[in-house]
Amino acid sequence: MEKSSISFIAMSLALLFVLVGFIIIVFDLSGLMFVFELILLLIFIFLSAFAMLTVHSNEKRGWTTLGATLVLLILDTFFLFLLTGLFGTAHITTIVFSFIALFIVFINLRIARDDESEAVDDEPVKEYYPYAEKPEEKPEISKDELKQEIKEEVKEEVKEEIKKEMEEEKAPEKAEVKKAEIRIKSRKTVMPKFVASAETKKFHTSKCGWARLMKRKNKIFFNSRKRAQKAGFKAHECVK
Ligand SMILES: [Zn+2]
Repeated sequence: MEKSSISFIAMSLALLFVLVGFIIIVFDLSGLMFVFELILLLIFIFLSAFAMLTVHSNEKRGWTTLGATLVLLILDTFFLFLLTGLFGTAHITTIVFSFIALFIVFINLRIARDDESEAVDDEPVKEYYPYAEKPEEKPEISKDELKQEIKEEVKEEVKEEIKKEMEEEKAPEKAEVKKAEIRIKSRKTVMPKFVASAETKKFHTSKCGWARLMKRKNKIFFNSRKRAQKAGFKAHECVK
């Protein structure tokens, strides 16, 4: 923490000198050039403020943004020198402190990188290297996954084989069960041909609509017409 707070203070001071120098340069300009450079100045101020705020949460991104901003600022100062031919104290201040600031950025980026490589050994890096983590871990994960998939496939194959074997073993049993079912079905079709109603004293074929409408408690079953008639039931139209 101390290291980073020292470099944070040093960086703030360097940036202060850089920006003051650059402001003097910009306000010496006139016309469109002034407007353009004023906009650039505002962008530089915004970028460095953003970077200084980011440094706390994400060192690498913060320092990288600062470095990029400083390089642009140095290039712009050099560009202005070429255009105007002026090179005064303000220019020297801006460029010298820009390079000092860049040096601080460079040191901190190296520290951040070292911390990351140490951190990799201890525990997965939290935020600041999301892209570096993936290619390293993916192959291992996919290996494990592959192994598991293969295991599962083998398991499933074994399961299927067992199922087949079981089915083959059960095949005769199943056949018996089916035969029994068929027998029951055939018995059902042989079931009473005639249904008489205790209420109406008439009897119907079992397929007749009236037979189906009868209440169960009133149903009396007969296998032959004669028996039904002997019992005192009259044949309905459905009985021929
Ligand atoms: Zn009938």
